[in-house]
Amino acid sequence: MADCAGGILYNKMVQELQNAGGTRLNFQFDESQGTGGIADFPNLSIRIGPNSSASTLGHEIFHYYQAFDDPASFGSHQLNREVEAHVMSYAYEDRNNATLPAIPNSVEQLCHDLSQFMDANGNFTDNSLGMQAEYISKYEDIRDALRDMNDGKTPYTTMGWQNESLSDAFELLREISENC
Ligand SMILES: [Zn+2]
Repeated sequence: MADCAGGILYNKMVQELQNAGGTRLNFQFDESQGTGGIADFPNLSIRIGPNSSASTLGHEIFHYYQAFDDPASFGSHQLNREVEAHVMSYAYEDRNNATLPAIPNSVEQLCHDLSQFMDANGNFTDNSLGMQAEYISKYEDIRDALRDMNDGKTPYTTMGWQNESLSDAFELLREISENC
């Protein structure tokens, strides 16, 4: 994997799985997932649709990294973790020059807007860590768009998404990209 943060994520996952006693994640193709994918925590698997992208796989792997980092949250699908995983996967696409459909106010577009607070290697700049008003506003836009997008749909409504403090937003994303 040539992508710096992607490679660090891969290696950290190898370590987390060893620490968990040699647990393995199952990878499954699942036509019902379409262009998306899902981290199927109860079955320790990632299910990927036939039209999904590499960044989708990265997104779901990142969810497992979040879960191993905080075992109490395993499978909890908290909203801020979802925002972090989306920003992580779209930053990956930006770095790898993916051509993206630009749909105004989509989660995808909002993540690109937020990426103005990141440098070319996916690191958050000092300004973003200052939590200035514009950054917070962009973050909240993504959070609200995700909440609206999944409102009334399965599986998210049954997963108890919660709001968390903004202060630790993107902690793990910074962790996998800080030396890139
Ligand atoms: Zn997700």
